[in-house]
Amino acid sequence: MTRTAIVPTMGALHDGHLALVHRARELADRVVVSIFVNPTQFGAGEDFARYPRTLDADRVLLDGLAEVFVPTVAEVYPTDNPPPVIHAGPMGDLWDGAARPGHFDGVLTVVNRLFDLVKPDVAVFGEKDWQQLTLIRVMVTERHVPIDIIGVPTVREPSGLALSSRNRFLNPDELEKAALLPVVLRQIAESGGTSESIIRGAARLDDAGFMVDYLDVVDENTLEPTIDSANARAIIAARLGSTRLIDNMPVAPAAER
Ligand code: AMP
Repeated sequence: MTRTAIVPTMGALHDGHLALVHRARELADRVVVSIFVNPTQFGAGEDFARYPRTLDADRVLLDGLAEVFVPTVAEVYPTDNPPPVIHAGPMGDLWDGAARPGHFDGVLTVVNRLFDLVKPDVAVFGEKDWQQLTLIRVMVTERHVPIDIIGVPTVREPSGLALSSRNRFLNPDELEKAALLPVVLRQIAESGGTSESIIRGAARLDDAGFMVDYLDVVDENTLEPTIDSANARAIIAARLGSTRLIDNMPVAPAAER
């Protein structure tokens, strides 16, 4: 029987997305990449209108690799039969959810709807959006959705900066500065996630002109702050100029330091 994988995206594709596509091709015979800039996951005053849309280039990148599914808003959210709104619950109010109220309800609602439209056996997501990946895992477990959720490690620039569709908003000066973000995360991760390393890292970013939204070490499943380095992640969101960047790294367990 044909096994179908979905890779949900908002387009403006880069090598991070392509890593997901290549992983999907290992897992399934049919790979569908959805491209949909989902209005319900953007808050008022966020960058929905200016979010990069590069459909022609995206199609070229995916040519011969995957089917491209570009649904319309009416197809995803038919007004006569609207899809159920999925609430992310308390875990969706932490971190990015605190900064972006309703964001994860929008994400889960669209992912659930895309699952319904494409009917995949497996779905591939990036670890870059750790909270998103965690919430999607919780959603499929709680709702008994028979789809395997696969996470793919973050693809980075040679500078260490995580690839992101939003990196194109950074000017050359900001792009250079942005490389400090993974440096700070790595220091925290390699220190085992000590509170001193977090405080030092936040100060360094502040000095460099970042507006740090959050920087902490959390349990990678519950997303609650932790001082235990086992199964922990250092997570960050910070603004540089008008661009909000997020990233995370696994904290090195004691045995590996
Ligand atoms: P988006 O960029 O929001 O369209 O993300 C679509 C998918 O690509 C999500 O599962 C993201 O986590 C994933 N993704 C985005 N950037 C990266 C990256 N640098 N490395 C790996 N996956 C990524």
